[in-house]
Amino acid sequence: MLSGAAASAEGRASVKSSAVPAASPYLVNVRDLERRPGELRERELDLNAPDQLGAGAAVVTAGTPVHIDLRLESLHEGILATGDVDSAATGECVRCLDSVSVPVRVEFQELFAYSDDEAFDYRVRDDHVDLEPVVRDAVVLSLPFQPVCRPDCPGLDPATGEKLADDPEQRPAAIVDPRWAALEGFAPVASGIDGGDAVAEEEKR
Ligand SMILES: [Zn+2]
Repeated sequence: MLSGAAASAEGRASVKSSAVPAASPYLVNVRDLERRPGELRERELDLNAPDQLGAGAAVVTAGTPVHIDLRLESLHEGILATGDVDSAATGECVRCLDSVSVPVRVEFQELFAYSDDEAFDYRVRDDHVDLEPVVRDAVVLSLPFQPVCRPDCPGLDPATGEKLADDPEQRPAAIVDPRWAALEGFAPVASGIDGGDAVAEEEKR
């Protein structure tokens, strides 16, 4: 499945003797920060997403570069990880089905605790913090449910299935909600901000 499977298998073999879980690019060594409250490290992580992030209309596909500006702070309870994630999602415009690339920029902040107390969601394990679930959650929440190629994408003609973007003359009258059809006779109100007054005026005449 993964193109780098052979390489990662080698990497895994080399760390097998230590207590570190199978090598993941999201694993960050924090040994030099542990039990040293006040210590701070800043790091930049560049990795290729080993697995796809998200499952909706836009996803970060496996292999996509993910850049993380990471700050690690040693606290009494554990390691506080703060990060800016930079990546890109791809999908299909929900209106015209063109492929869409959506920039992903999200922040996260999580405490990785020393304690096994259930009050903490994440833990420091074997001198490492695993950013994978944290980055995954932050990225997935930021992905658009309904990506569009551009905000005013007119979509496809409901009758022909042709892309309307290529033919601006052919605005889709059919897309007008039938409940608003009665309003179609009204000209746009040029003066009043309050549409209600304008309608009232119209009725007086
Ligand atoms: Zn579109």
